[in-house]
Amino acid sequence: MIKLHDKQFRPYLDEAAIQEAVKKIAQEVARDYKHEVPIFVGVLNGAFMFVSDFLKEYKHHCEVTFVKLSSYQGLTSTGIVETLLDISEDIEGRSVIILEDIIDTGRTLQQLVHLFSKSNVKEFKIASLFYKSEIYNGEYNIDYVGIEIPNSFIVGYGLDYKELGRNLREVYQLNQNNMINLVLFGKPGAGKGTQAGFLKEKYNLKHISTGDVFRYNMKNGTELGKLAQSYIDKGELVPDEVTIDMLKAEVEKSGDAEGFIFDGFPRTVAQAKALDNFLESKEMQVDATIALEADDDILVARLLERGKESGRSDDQDEAKIRNRFDEYNQKTAALKEYYNRQGKFHTVNGIGGISEITERLLTVIDEVLKVQG
Ligand code: AMP
Repeated sequence: MIKLHDKQFRPYLDEAAIQEAVKKIAQEVARDYKHEVPIFVGVLNGAFMFVSDFLKEYKHHCEVTFVKLSSYQGLTSTGIVETLLDISEDIEGRSVIILEDIIDTGRTLQQLVHLFSKSNVKEFKIASLFYKSEIYNGEYNIDYVGIEIPNSFIVGYGLDYKELGRNLREVYQLNQNNMINLVLFGKPGAGKGTQAGFLKEKYNLKHISTGDVFRYNMKNGTELGKLAQSYIDKGELVPDEVTIDMLKAEVEKSGDAEGFIFDGFPRTVAQAKALDNFLESKEMQVDATIALEADDDILVARLLERGKESGRSDDQDEAKIRNRFDEYNQKTAALKEYYNRQGKFHTVNGIGGISEITERLLTVIDEVLKVQG
């Protein structure tokens, strides 16, 4: 996911899909025009990348020029199309093929047709890399189409959102429904908390660490803290009812969140079921569960190291740490199967540099968003 100005955009078309569409158009045009020298007219600014790649794929003689029109401000078409740069080439008697990055309502196209209707061209054709057939209401037939896309706002590969995003090699789609809920999964010490810190920034999410909430309550001597203390001190799980109620309260507190990262929750199948039901009641869902994987011995070493700095009693004693692993194996590991059945379980190698692991997580999450897109 990327952020341009105030908006989030999710991956939509990768480079290969775009290049394939460009090549397809170039081949179709070549089939029709290889025996003459057509003039390609790129529509600025959005089409500059398409024109460039198109020409590289067009293997016959041709000329190229550009026009500049403008109708977008921000996310919506203003409906006013101005001609900012007129066609200068001598186009009389020539075949002209317009190269557009995207055709949506068809207003820009109408202006172009108008522009060329005054000239005496031999033939006038339109090629558009992207085409929103759902909302196109022009009369003119689009002669060559790369990819038909639904009516959502896209950026990248020449297309912008308030001038940003043109330099992206891929195409991204506006993330209309920002709500995304992730479960970070893994044994104690796997790096869930550290990684959640990065992910929440990247995706504008609220990070809920049940371990942190318990520790906060213990520190402040609340009823909940006192209740949890004995379990935590032994490296055992706090009972489900207590944990589930607490989790619900945390979610309720953050009504304005764009989504959540659940870190350390769920840890039992009962918790996972409760989470599913709770989210469903709010018309939300778990979008992905990502497990950070590492060997026990590496984790023990990490936790003992962490225990020195954090002072956490459950991180300082290898027996307690091993007990937490046992709890994980007995109660939490079953969640793999639970989320696997929903097609929502992903694993990431949790060994390596912190930023390296973040990259691995981002790859998985972006893939999930793309599929949902
Ligand atoms: P953590 O900081 O995630 O390692 O959690 C520290 C301790 O808090 C765990 O060992 C448990 O005793 C308790 N705890 C945290 N999350 C849960 C949960 N989802 N269910 C039960 N106990 C939990």
